[in-house]
Amino acid sequence: MIIAIDGPAASGKGTLGKRLAHHYGYRHLDTGVIYRAVAHALLEMGADLHNEALAIAAARQLDPKTFGNPALKSHEVGNAASIVSALPGVREVLLNFQRQFASHPPGAVLDGRDIGTVICPDADVKIFVVADPRVRARRRTLEAQSRGEQADEAAILADIIKRDERDQNRPTAPLRAAPDAHTLDNSNLGIDESVQAAIDIVEAVRAKR
Ligand code: C5P
Repeated sequence: MIIAIDGPAASGKGTLGKRLAHHYGYRHLDTGVIYRAVAHALLEMGADLHNEALAIAAARQLDPKTFGNPALKSHEVGNAASIVSALPGVREVLLNFQRQFASHPPGAVLDGRDIGTVICPDADVKIFVVADPRVRARRRTLEAQSRGEQADEAAILADIIKRDERDQNRPTAPLRAAPDAHTLDNSNLGIDESVQAAIDIVEAVRAKR
């Protein structure tokens, strides 16, 4: 079984996908990490984030061993990932990596922006996670502070709005809900409640089969 989790409510999403995968004994891929890894490679080189040829080369050299690098979590890398991820050549290189991950039994949970629409359009369950941008800015601020980083909540909110707009309006694989996706608004839910709501969606879909 493949579970696709998409949506702009990205910060809680990594944890949600991981917990959902754990619940079902599936593998989990937070696909934001792969775009972040490509962006980080370019930042390290001091390269222009719009340089598609260099970004494609970085995507081809992607090493999953680097996915746990805490530097990938920073807000700066997140913004850079949003620029790099709009490059069609980068998305194309990363498509097979994601599909292969999804295809291994017993099942997988992938979260990102285009899993239900482009990467796994035949996913068994699609969940589209949304939350009020102000709530997301609060969460990101607390996350950054818990990592010991300085965080300006108003600047984070402005970035979130800008990034959502870029993700939603790019020509290649724009962020949008698949027609068969189930929307989960977790603005007023804690992480435990979000996980339970996602499990309820999966179970409801399974029961209908
Ligand atoms: O979810 P996360 O904040 O880690 O994603 C960082 C950026 O990577 C997003 O803003 C988005 O532009 C891009 N992304 C994407 N497709 C995905 C996952 C992330 O374009 N499947």
